Amino acid sequence: AIPLVVAVSTTLSAQNGLLIRNRTAFENARKIDTVLFDKTGTLTEGEFGVEAVESFVDEYSKEEILQKAASLEQESEHPIAAGIVKRAKEDEVELIKVDDFEIIKGKGVIGKIDGRDFKAVSPGYLAENNIEVPEDALKKGPFTEIFILEAGNLIGMIRLGDQIRESSYEAVQKLKDRGIKVIMLTGDNQKTAEYVSNELGLTDYFAEILPDEKQKKVEELQAEGAFVAMTGDGVNDAPALAKADIGIAIGSGTDVAAETADIILVESDPLDVLKLIEFGTLTYKKMI
Ligand code: ADP
Ligand code: MG
Repeated sequence: AIPLVVAVSTTLSAQNGLLIRNRTAFENARKIDTVLFDKTGTLTEGEFGVEAVESFVDEYSKEEILQKAASLEQESEHPIAAGIVKRAKEDEVELIKVDDFEIIKGKGVIGKIDGRDFKAVSPGYLAENNIEVPEDALKKGPFTEIFILEAGNLIGMIRLGDQIRESSYEAVQKLKDRGIKVIMLTGDNQKTAEYVSNELGLTDYFAEILPDEKQKKVEELQAEGAFVAMTGDGVNDAPALAKADIGIAIGSGTDVAAETADIILVESDPLDVLKLIEFGTLTYKKMI
């Protein structure tokens, strides 16, 4: 039989938006001294709107830049892709068929349109390929900029805007009040990460982290003796969720994240990480 205290705490947790998939992890919540958060879709809403489209060349209008980007992105499931395709549909921009589509993990997408090579990529990708990021292109704020290349040449840019979740502010503050380190891991660019980190008052952050590097960060912190909870929503967060002492998935996220996590935040509310720590601690105390 399930001990009464466990049954009660499970019910209490469920009523408070916590779906517990792994009891041991739940009872270990009292040990958490470091909480890692993914950015997009976790600390932020993860719903991108197009803020600006720029053409850097005479051959293409802004609309044609949007058309190239949206054509590539119709093949991707990334929230960035969803934002760009949505805008193209609203503007009644016709999408073109793409050949040889490929994802460059954590950096962007590539494909052929009418036999020519196009890319939609991060500023980090430009830097790696010695392409200068245009001055002032990266705007301070919760923005993500994507650059459009044709045959390796920069032809345009799309700026997308996301929003920090209202309750992220309180979640970070309350975790810090408990003496817990709050660290963000994001694949997004340095400038955006710095902005979000400053806004929320994070202990630390790591930007331009490739999908498999999130897991390595967890391991590094564990090697330093940290007891790590990782919170994320994406496919690219799954290895880190698995590696963390406690993996926490955002309910609105991908199935892969939910299936990998120990706990699911049903309401997709970062504040519920605190409830997890409180209830996990209470349950443990009642059991001993
Ligand atoms: P995260 O979920 O942590 O924000 P990702 O690893 O999914 O990060 O993506 C990191 C970066 O890679 C994005 O900020 C963006 O610059 C680029 N990127 C990823 N997917 C796409 C895409 N479909 N189109 C354009 N850029 C992308
Ligand atoms: Mg995410």
